[in-house]
Amino acid sequence: MASAHIMIADDDPSILESLTGVLRDSGFEVSAADGRDSLMRALGNGTPDLLLLDVIMPGVDGVQVLQELKADSRWRDIPVLMVSSLSPDEMTEKTFGLGAADFIRKPFRPRELIARVQAQLRSHAALSSTRDALRSAEDALRRARDDAESRKKVVDILHEVTGDLVSDEIYHILARRVARALKLSRCSVILAKPGDKTGIVATAFDDPALRHFEIHLDRYPEISSALETGLPVLVEDLESSDLHANIRLEWKASGTKVPIRSVIVLPFSLGAEQAGVFFLRRLTDEPALTQVDVEFADAVVKAAVAAIVRAQLLETTRAENTRLEVLAHTDPLTQALNRRALTVRLVSEMDRARRYNADLSMLMVDLDHFKSVNDTHGHLVGDDVLREVAHLLQESVRSVDFVARYGGEEFVVVLPETEAPGAVKFAERMRERIAATAFVSDRGSVRITASIGVASYPLGDVHTVDDLFARADEALYRAKSGGRNLVCQ
Ligand code: GH3
Ligand code: MG
Ligand code: MG
Repeated sequence: MASAHIMIADDDPSILESLTGVLRDSGFEVSAADGRDSLMRALGNGTPDLLLLDVIMPGVDGVQVLQELKADSRWRDIPVLMVSSLSPDEMTEKTFGLGAADFIRKPFRPRELIARVQAQLRSHAALSSTRDALRSAEDALRRARDDAESRKKVVDILHEVTGDLVSDEIYHILARRVARALKLSRCSVILAKPGDKTGIVATAFDDPALRHFEIHLDRYPEISSALETGLPVLVEDLESSDLHANIRLEWKASGTKVPIRSVIVLPFSLGAEQAGVFFLRRLTDEPALTQVDVEFADAVVKAAVAAIVRAQLLETTRAENTRLEVLAHTDPLTQALNRRALTVRLVSEMDRARRYNADLSMLMVDLDHFKSVNDTHGHLVGDDVLREVAHLLQESVRSVDFVARYGGEEFVVVLPETEAPGAVKFAERMRERIAATAFVSDRGSVRITASIGVASYPLGDVHTVDDLFARADEALYRAKSGGRNLVCQ
């Protein structure tokens, strides 16, 4: 604290001299002013740590000077000790509420002066370090808020970028979000690879009509440059950009008015291949884009592109899983449901029927003397016939019904919401169609018939899926023993 700078303003040279001496002896750096004007000049040269201000100076009242200092943000924080021959009470009254830190009465005693100066410097130092701490806490808070804000924007964007969107829609959403976040009036996505002569507008946030429009990249040196380097390009001002020196001449020659002030081009790639650029622009009457905008937009685009790649991977996996699931439920020869899938679906249909008091019918279809088809025409022809029969059944049922291959040459057809008479009628139609069909194969046509057993819930003693199978099986047995090519229930 010994090196603190004290400034003295007093019109009395002897007081200036003695104050200066006392303070210098205590190790302070001292500068002196003999009136308001020289004080202002001295302040302009450097802010002191403390000011000793005479209350009464010729031509100007020290109290007015105090007021002037406290009204100026440059000097407001300097602690001011008022020096006067007035009594402390009178001084307090005169300077009440004006922000003087303390008073010293003339004639002053050196030790009291030093003590008061040091006390002021100490409390001022404490105050300014608190103020600094507060300011840096405020800065940190503001930075944290800004960070959170931009992170939130990224998260918002990513939320929008998931789901079953096709790339066109994803590009559109991204362009819109980046445009909003950076307050851009123009934002588009151009699909192009390094070396391409033209690019395709995948989406233009500002002008949807430009979608799928072809642009010539030699007109856009910033896009070509970004594509070649794979790095973001920032053009703060098209008027002075080196990249645009040639094209500016062309604009001038053709009288083209370009309404754009600044541009950011962000290259992106999906997978290994360069896919294109985000093309962000601000108009001439809007603030220029800056490096900070580049960093923000680049972070958004990178995160979003990563999300798209993940979404596409997920989509492929999901499609693959669906394919495997279908395989697991399907009979490979006929593409009908297999026995396991039949059981699963039938159980849930039975639950539903029970819950809603609905009807449920089942047909068990067994081809007659199928062994002789194999014996006569060969196993491959037998396979063809099985496929055809399955197809015939499948194309005859409603979308809520389902067909399953139950065994070798046995099929099951399940008809939800169908009572016994309707099921029998449907079975009869199927029997007739099978009998009427000439199943064509490489080795000639084959005629066959089918026996069909029908069971319905909640008819008779049918309470469960097993009951339904048992009743259908019994009915089928009756159809077989009744002479085949028959429907029984
Ligand atoms: P019916 O039902 O009228 O009593 O006589 P059927 O000859 O159809 O009865 P059975 O159950 O004795 O024989 C079924 C035959 O179906 C035996 C087998 O050769 C044939 N078969 C079962 N699965 C397949 C298959 O996947 N492909 C071919 N080609 N034939 C099959
Ligand atoms: Mg059989
Ligand atoms: Mg059979």
